[in-house]
Amino acid sequence: MNESTFNPKQQEANLSDKIVVGLERIAEVFKVLLWEKAKSVGLSPIQIQILIFTAYHKQDLCNVSHFAKEFNVTKPTISDAIKVLDKKGMIIKDHSSADSRSYSITLSDVGHDIIAQTFNFSNPLKKQVDGFSQPELESLFETLSQLIFKLNKNGILRVQRTCFGCKYFEKNNGINYCNLLQKPLETNEIRLDCLEFEEKPSI
Ligand code: SF4
Repeated sequence: MNESTFNPKQQEANLSDKIVVGLERIAEVFKVLLWEKAKSVGLSPIQIQILIFTAYHKQDLCNVSHFAKEFNVTKPTISDAIKVLDKKGMIIKDHSSADSRSYSITLSDVGHDIIAQTFNFSNPLKKQVDGFSQPELESLFETLSQLIFKLNKNGILRVQRTCFGCKYFEKNNGINYCNLLQKPLETNEIRLDCLEFEEKPSI
């Protein structure tokens, strides 16, 4: 049989394979937790994801094109999800952008109520992560942030807002530095979803 990460025999001899399988298990946790929450409020997972993203990010990212990239789905899928949210009065469409064909969205009061019921859907996972020691958390975070950046550089993960891909980021003599905040960044200060992030132009 062909070599496969998902072959338990192969995993026995290869730590990277075990890690990839572990990440796949964790992805399942997200799916399960999101589905449970979505069912409880009568929405689909992608509708909940759109609402939560909109609650915490600037409005110019809250449009069909960006949601499609952020959640790795097609634009028609996003448009359909937004149609339902609009019908349920959970979002407000803003057509004031220069491009009359596009719009961004904000949350209505009903949308904010739904956020209050769903924003913590990942708490069961957070509770387990909280149980690790500070050095364990820092080591895990360092690896995760590098992995996310590499996946983005290879085009597998279409969107990331980490320091490593930001135009304000600099690394000098092993020290991470943010030119916007004008301060060195310790490992645990590297951001994964920075509101000030601006993509580094490719050279
Ligand atoms: S602006 Fe944000 S993402 Fe960019 S380097 Fe500074 S902290 Fe990191």
